[in-house]
Amino acid sequence: MKILVGGSVAIDNVKTPVADESNLLGGSASYAALAATKLASPVHLIGIIGNDFPQEHLDMLAGEGVDLSGLEKSEQPSFTWTGEYHENMNDRTTHSVAINVLEHWQVSVPEDLVDAPFVVLANMAPINQLQMLAQCNASDRFVVADTMDLWITVANEELHEVLEKIDLLVINEGEAREFASTNNLVLAGERLLEKGPQFVVIKLGEFGALLFGPEGAFFRCGAWPLRVLADPTGAGDTFLGGLIGTLAAEKATQPSFTQLKTAVVNGSILASFTCENFSTKSLEAAKKEQFLERLERFEEISRWE
Ligand code: AMP
Repeated sequence: MKILVGGSVAIDNVKTPVADESNLLGGSASYAALAATKLASPVHLIGIIGNDFPQEHLDMLAGEGVDLSGLEKSEQPSFTWTGEYHENMNDRTTHSVAINVLEHWQVSVPEDLVDAPFVVLANMAPINQLQMLAQCNASDRFVVADTMDLWITVANEELHEVLEKIDLLVINEGEAREFASTNNLVLAGERLLEKGPQFVVIKLGEFGALLFGPEGAFFRCGAWPLRVLADPTGAGDTFLGGLIGTLAAEKATQPSFTQLKTAVVNGSILASFTCENFSTKSLEAAKKEQFLERLERFEEISRWE
């Protein structure tokens, strides 16, 4: 069952206490699409790149099974993000965001993809999320969206419109507190549910994630205990891809809370691979057996009886 992933496809320059690397593959959609291929197929990417985008990144995505027919190429420079992580890797400073191709982007979903039953609106301007969703026409579908603090501030109204149209919102802890105007994460989850989606996931970085569902349904998932943390960029997007890949593999367009719990666990495990190296390097290299090994061990360490 088709998975459609729309979002940013970026050139990232990232500095962490481990190293400083540039011209990396980045972008919310790149990570989410690659992660989804680990669990399901076909995966179709919707995005836009510029004339300076490294061909090797495109070759890697295509080689891993991501369909790039919905990836537009513009004559402008690519969207480029430059950021730095400090000693505590939860702490990130964005040095520059060159919007470039994203500034006037009008999302266009190829005709043969509009019927995708699994739709991921990865982090991008809410107006682009709305444009993409307006073109998707499957009557039976599951729509997941991610966002970031910037959009809560500069596109609050459009973001609320997105929330009314999606099934699941995935959001960072800090952003959830800001968006729901409370420091209490349980309240934040409940308030976000009231804005429209049937389910909400609040990501807690190295501490995992909280899942909220209808009628007080709640699940707390941990994170894989990593010894090596090189670059956490894209962990949230990888989580998103792992989650949708799990639902697609189950053909669950109307997932039960139990299916969502499994999707959250898989997303959390896949995200751990992303953090082990810069960009998508570790995720690319991750084999199904390694994923399953982590999953088995994760089950052991999460049980108390
Ligand atoms: P995450 O670490 O999950 O927050 O995602 C990081 C990715 O988001 C990086 O690869 C960036 O290229 C991308 N990104 C950063 N800022 C934006 C933005 N304003 N819009 C879309 N994508 C962005």
